[in-house]
This record gives sequence, C-alpha cells and structure tokens, in this order.
Amino acid sequence: MSHDYATVTFEDGQVFHAEYDGTVSLSQASFFESREEITAQWRQPDTRKCSDPANHPQELVEYWTNYGNGDSWDTQACRTCKVITGPRSESIPYERAPFMSEENS
Ligand SMILES: [Zn+2]
Repeated sequence: MSHDYATVTFEDGQVFHAEYDGTVSLSQASFFESREEITAQWRQPDTRKCSDPANHPQELVEYWTNYGNGDSWDTQACRTCKVITGPRSESIPYERAPFMSEENS
C-alpha cells in the first residue's frame, strides 16, 4: 500500500487526519477533522493551498505518518483552510519552501 494515514498535530493539541503518498514521499496538502473525511477523498488529486497566507495564521504542527516504519517531522499549516503550508516531506528542510529546485542537481 503506497498511501497511508497520517496526523497533523497543532501545538494546542488539536489533531487532524491527513493522507501520505509513499510513492512520491509527500503528504497530500489537505487535512480533515475525521478519518472518514480523509477516506472519502483517498487518492484524489489535492492541489489546495492556503487562500490567504498573509492573513491566516501559519502555525507550527507536527506531521506523523504511519507509512513504512512511521515518520514524523515539523512543518506548518493553516488551520483556517485545513491545508499544510510548510514542507510535506521530511526530506525537505523546514527552512526551505517546498518544491524549490535542488541546489545540487
Ligand atoms: Zn489559509
């Protein structure tokens, strides 16, 4: 199974449910309040972004996925839009914006 469940945990302890795509080693951008919601849109294309990054708080979250042996990393997210706005892979450093070109390639 190349996709697996994941969680997005905010600093105040609120937990949301997300989907991790192990094929490309990236999380889907959206997260949801219930596992049923994530199941309903499983493997659907997900290109959502924060609709107003200048005005929506970008909060620190811990991402955890059940994929492989389990993995977690710090990133950021918009709780208003329910979308991850920071790195969606542990292999992307937190300081670097997602999808910037690799320096050494
Ligand atoms: Zn937003």
